[in-house]
Amino acid sequence: MTYAGPAAADAPGTRTGGVPHVPADFTWPLCAECDGPMQFVAQVSLADAGLLSIFMCQNDPGLCEEWDATAGGNHAYVFGADAVHFPVPPADDGVTALDETCAVDYEELPTGDYLDAADDWHKRTGRPKREVLGQIGGRPLWLQSDETPVCDGCNRPMAFVVQLEEGHNHRTSANFGGGGCGYAFHCAPCSTAAFLWQC
Ligand SMILES: [Zn+2]
Ligand SMILES: [Zn+2]
Repeated sequence: MTYAGPAAADAPGTRTGGVPHVPADFTWPLCAECDGPMQFVAQVSLADAGLLSIFMCQNDPGLCEEWDATAGGNHAYVFGADAVHFPVPPADDGVTALDETCAVDYEELPTGDYLDAADDWHKRTGRPKREVLGQIGGRPLWLQSDETPVCDGCNRPMAFVVQLEEGHNHRTSANFGGGGCGYAFHCAPCSTAAFLWQC
């Protein structure tokens, strides 16, 4: 995934930032630690036509265990084709959006790992490595140990969906601890999702 320029805040499909597409009955997630509204980070189109949506708390960065898949400082959803509505974030002074909405380009990777591919892309295009926004599919490149989450519904390891870099511009990027990566997973049979980050 590479940076493809600014996108409209309501652009369909995969993007970082902006306003999430949600089902009609959606309620904006609140942080289990600080009770504040979460920040919408990204949505990713799934191969089977759903949408994976990632939120995490940024009201007290570093204090809400927002890196953890189960502590309640972040939340990931799998939405179906009914995710066409735009929610109104709670009228609260919490941090609910990134400062920029980014479109995403894709390039299919040959065999070889994500890091090599990012290096190759940088050399080939002359564009900054910071414009690599992550990878969809394949295998996660863990910065720490493997933390593949287990599904709440069926107790099986969840399937890897996307690895996200913080963003192309440090002033508008997501906060994964400063140079970290986010990882999102889903369980298709249970329609569950999970998110965590490492740095
Ligand atoms: Zn919080
Ligand atoms: Zn499951």
